[in-house]
Amino acid sequence: MVIHEYAGIRTELPDRECPHCGKVLDAWLAPPETGWGVILICNNNSCPHYLGSETDILHKRDDSHLGCRYAENPDNGFKPVNVLAVCPH
Ligand SMILES: [Zn+2]
Repeated sequence: MVIHEYAGIRTELPDRECPHCGKVLDAWLAPPETGWGVILICNNNSCPHYLGSETDILHKRDDSHLGCRYAENPDNGFKPVNVLAVCPH
């Protein structure tokens, strides 16, 4: 089980594995503008989904190194979502 605590709110989420790399997803509080709340995200910097996404983003600046991490939204039946993140490489 993954436990996320923020501002006194405790969220318990089931262990979910990333379908791309098999790593257990981490709980993460999404930015308020997404309206998602706590979601599960793959924080593996070697995840093929993450590494492969960097060239797929349209209109991104060449030096921005943005990628999409794989994530699932528990409030939406664990529907897969993409979270924009900065690639470390
Ligand atoms: Zn992954």
